[in-house]
Amino acid sequence: MNFKNVTVAGGGVLGSQIAFQTAFHGFHVSIYDIDDGAIDRAKDRIRKLQPRYERDLNASKEQTEAAIGRIRFSADLEEAADDADLVIEAVPEVAEIKTDFYNKLGEAAPEKTIFATNSSTMLPSRFAEATGRPEKFLALHFANEIWKNNTAEIMKHPGTDMDVFSDVIEFAKAIGMVALPIYKEQPGYILNSLLVPFLEAAQKLLVREVSDVETIDKTWMVATGAPLGPFAILDIVGIRTAYNIGQAKADATGSEEYKKMAEFLKNEYIDKGKLGRETGEGFYTYPDPAFLKEDFLK
Ligand code: NAD
Repeated sequence: MNFKNVTVAGGGVLGSQIAFQTAFHGFHVSIYDIDDGAIDRAKDRIRKLQPRYERDLNASKEQTEAAIGRIRFSADLEEAADDADLVIEAVPEVAEIKTDFYNKLGEAAPEKTIFATNSSTMLPSRFAEATGRPEKFLALHFANEIWKNNTAEIMKHPGTDMDVFSDVIEFAKAIGMVALPIYKEQPGYILNSLLVPFLEAAQKLLVREVSDVETIDKTWMVATGAPLGPFAILDIVGIRTAYNIGQAKADATGSEEYKKMAEFLKNEYIDKGKLGRETGEGFYTYPDPAFLKEDFLK
């Protein structure tokens, strides 16, 4: 892997974090976004990340300023990608927007450039043709707050070249990530393939009135030694996200159980402003949730 220049397409929530993280580790970064207004918002996001790196990673002002100094911005795709070794796409999670973007990028980027999608829910094979270079395309999926939650799931599609796969794994390590190779396409990658069914199982136990929030969490924590139970995790994920997933499954499958789960989350939590940690209350009340109390596991 001898990447030097990385282009991040889309300077939104994740794009700005990917750009900062990459520049922080010494790469030259360009951020591409659609127009001057979007570029201004991306610049603002980058500035707001600076104190987070200083506080959470103990980075010095010199280090964060140097990182920002390695980032340039452009609303012209050809200019943004002019010497890119890698383009990381973090445009909105809308299939038509991504397809249209890859059609343009395939034309604008030099032949050497590898493309990676950060999509959370769409498989890379869906866009492989649109890139015009399926062998140089794969998924590179980060988590929100990348500097702390430093997983990088690197997922091939059937046409990805093995050398490209290895190079992107090396790159992920070079920007401080724990690189997690995924050899076959899998919706939800590894993390959500484990987490989503786990969190759903907990919600089913609750909605069926098999047991209560604290007992379900306590069971998991005592039996496995895990620091958090499923409802404590749901408070971090956000109850609105859990509701959206349940509602989408209810719509797609017509399942009464998913419908009941979604309604329960809406009536008991969302409508009461209990969205999880972000609002200070969800299944637990913060900053002193019951599961952190000394006698919780007794
Ligand atoms: P966002 O809405 O915050 O940012 C999207 C950015 O793309 C905006 O800056 C927007 O101006 C720009 N954009 C819109 N149309 C564009 C186009 N045609 N070309 C280039 N840029 C365009 O979205 P986000 O939360 O950063 O998500 C981006 C991608 O990252 C999605 O695929 C999402 O699934 C993935 N992701 C998000 C998270 C998360 O927690 N937010 C976590 C992991 C992965």
